[in-house]
Amino acid sequence: MSQTKYIFVTGGVTSSLGKGIIAASLAKLLQARGYRTTIQKLDPYINVDPGTLNPYEHGECYVTDDGAETDLDLGHYERFLNVRTSQANNVTTGRIYQSVIEKERRGEFLGKTVQVVPHITNEIKERIQILGNSGDYDIIITEIGGTVGDIESLPYIEAVRQLLWELGEHNGIVIHLTLVPFLSAAGELKTKPTQHSVKTLMESGIKADILVCRTEHEISEEIKEKLALFCNVRKEAVIQSIDASTIYDVPLMMQEEGLDAVTLEKLALPKDLEPNLDQWKEFLERHKNPKNKVVIGLIGKYVELPDSYKSIQESFIHAGAANEVEVEVRSIHSSHLSAKNIDKKLLGLDGILVAPGFGERGIEGKIRAVRYARENDLPFLGICLGMQMAVIEFARNVLGMDKANSTEMDPNTPYPVISLMEEQKSVTNMGGTMRLGAWDCHLTENSLVHQVYGTSDISERHRHRFEFNNEYKQQMEDAGLVPTGFNLKTGLVEVIEIPSHPWFVGVQYHPEYRSTVASPHPLFVGFVKAVLAQKQKQKNASLA
Ligand code: GLN
Repeated sequence: MSQTKYIFVTGGVTSSLGKGIIAASLAKLLQARGYRTTIQKLDPYINVDPGTLNPYEHGECYVTDDGAETDLDLGHYERFLNVRTSQANNVTTGRIYQSVIEKERRGEFLGKTVQVVPHITNEIKERIQILGNSGDYDIIITEIGGTVGDIESLPYIEAVRQLLWELGEHNGIVIHLTLVPFLSAAGELKTKPTQHSVKTLMESGIKADILVCRTEHEISEEIKEKLALFCNVRKEAVIQSIDASTIYDVPLMMQEEGLDAVTLEKLALPKDLEPNLDQWKEFLERHKNPKNKVVIGLIGKYVELPDSYKSIQESFIHAGAANEVEVEVRSIHSSHLSAKNIDKKLLGLDGILVAPGFGERGIEGKIRAVRYARENDLPFLGICLGMQMAVIEFARNVLGMDKANSTEMDPNTPYPVISLMEEQKSVTNMGGTMRLGAWDCHLTENSLVHQVYGTSDISERHRHRFEFNNEYKQQMEDAGLVPTGFNLKTGLVEVIEIPSHPWFVGVQYHPEYRSTVASPHPLFVGFVKAVLAQKQKQKNASLA
């Protein structure tokens, strides 16, 4: 295919309509028909990237192989498509302005007054076309964050308007996502908010080609006709998106509604080939028909907002399906775990995952949860800060190093078993300065992780400043906590395990960023398998 086609996804009426899931679902359907597809997210906020944002703001910060700290929607794109994303797939207003201002300082605008139109809009257009110009994709889906009518999104909408004109008919289309609310007092679905939203888009010179209408109730043919007539779209282009029990149902629901067919028609692309979704359907089948169930405690300090640990939650869904097990993830606030209540709070768990995180709040609770898992033979997975807490717990309670800590929490600890990486010591800026992105790791032969991965050399994504302090390596190893994964170039410890425990693994990296429907992460698959095995073993022991 010579001409790259562009699909722009905008949203109206309210935020949180699930544009990311609709974009990912459409991309999946197009990919399943053989089109090389990727998705890009444009975020209208002024942070240069979401790396400096608290998870309470927009949920988890997702990390790509090339070290971009991005919006969590990129996680959905990778999980649905099994295609890696990069720096180019997430652009914020902050990044756009930073780049335009840097060009201005270099004198690249040749004395001109630098303005939103054309300089900011040109920069946006360039960023949209980077992926298209790479030649790697047939179709680019660009999701515009925010809601039409917002002051922040105006330059993006204007850039899209210009691009649609430049690309010409059939090369660029707009899918507008809206809400069709149900008024119980009137007992009916209301189309007016959608009409207003489409009108707002029109005022900016953009006509929606396809409407995707989020709804809690079936949209009748009559209402579809009404939406079509008043919103200036054809009836087949009014797509119902009703609430789903799992996000993984959405691609099939969109196919049923004909979203992919009408998209291809608008882009003048052949639609005769049916999408091949066999693998996807098989995954759904396993996910919906589990043979067993396990309960895993997710110990974190941002648990009030489930989106804070999005990739971990989704990794458990992939790993659950792989094992034909329903994984109930029970979120437990680390700040609520005291020496007194821990047994009660963790009762009924079959396995424990201690989550990533930053700062001091809740870390004593995390350390208690590690101890509980270690002493009660519960399968344990510690991710990033969770791995660091496992090292601290072992130092304190097995090696008797009272007050052992990470220098992140206690710079004056007598036993800095976790300390700042050498190259981090001179860093003063917070944004984009952590150890980020994919790093190679070598796994020790005969270790548990080697068996789990089935290979010696892996590459995993990182996002941290602190590390295992190699000065304590020998002592730890002699007492039974063994480093089994290393970066061969730097000597940094990336994995620890306790061989005498049924399944105890801590990883300095984030396996959750690499788990997809097509390729569930081996560490999560192995963990869930071990949790089930240990549960069954304990059940048999209690029956004997
Ligand atoms: N706060 C820790 C560090 O910076 C762990 C980071 C994380 O869990 N992502 O090293």
